[in-house]
Amino acid sequence: MSGFAVSEVGLEGGRVLLSATQLHKRFGDNEVLKGIDFDVPAGSVSVLIGPSGSGKTTVLRSLNGLELPDSGTVRIGDVSVDYGAQPTKKDVARLRAQSAMVFQGHNLFPHLTVLQNVTEGPLLVQRRPAGEVRTEALALLDRVGLASKAEQYPFQLSGGQQQRVGIARALALRPQLMLFDEPTSALDPELVGEVLAVMKDLAGEGWTMVVVTHEIRFAQSVADQVLFMDGGVVVESGPPEAVLENPQQPRTRTFLHRIL
Ligand code: ADP
Repeated sequence: MSGFAVSEVGLEGGRVLLSATQLHKRFGDNEVLKGIDFDVPAGSVSVLIGPSGSGKTTVLRSLNGLELPDSGTVRIGDVSVDYGAQPTKKDVARLRAQSAMVFQGHNLFPHLTVLQNVTEGPLLVQRRPAGEVRTEALALLDRVGLASKAEQYPFQLSGGQQQRVGIARALALRPQLMLFDEPTSALDPELVGEVLAVMKDLAGEGWTMVVVTHEIRFAQSVADQVLFMDGGVVVESGPPEAVLENPQQPRTRTFLHRIL
């Protein structure tokens, strides 16, 4: 399936920030990605949906080199990695620096305060000046509603608060692209809303985001593009009104019937 046209997501003339081309990945005999293609325009939100095991997380991790596909190309901005051409660790590290990932949960450093969790990457990886990093981290914590928790430790926070720290920590890296891997799936239901609200705010501010989630209502209200994956391929993609409300492919319909 080829990449969608930029005009389809209502961002006519928008620059494509991310291009994934023909991503292939196998784990032993298990061919997990069978040629994944998609484009993400700058400032847009793409949501990956699909059954468990369809390859969504592997796609997301391939976008920032946490997983190394066997072949295919990922381009973010002006950094491109051709996984089939045996990229060096440095090439992959350059690609990784373009994006930041928010994980399912439990990914904060337990021995560091909330503030230290947010400043760790910019200080130790990016080696930016401490004063600037601290000021920016406090502003980011304020933005996710957690300024008052800066000196607390992760275990003192609810799961939803921890995920909001995870989002602040990712933003602190000043990425071009934010990746979210089922950010609410490990949360108690009553804590899901506060995390989705922060993500919705980011989308409104123009962040470019790729989100793996089962939260169909979030996809309906926030996504510019929904990609339905099954069996290692993108079966169907387009604006949420099309993919979620008027799916063309039987596999998409079956999946949506099952979860809605
Ligand atoms: P999804 O996110 O859609 O649930 P995943 O990308 O997590 O799908 O997984 C796709 C398939 O790849 C599954 O069959 C999973 O068991 C397999 N898989 C994922 N990561 C690994 C790994 N590191 N080693 C072996 N198999 C893996």
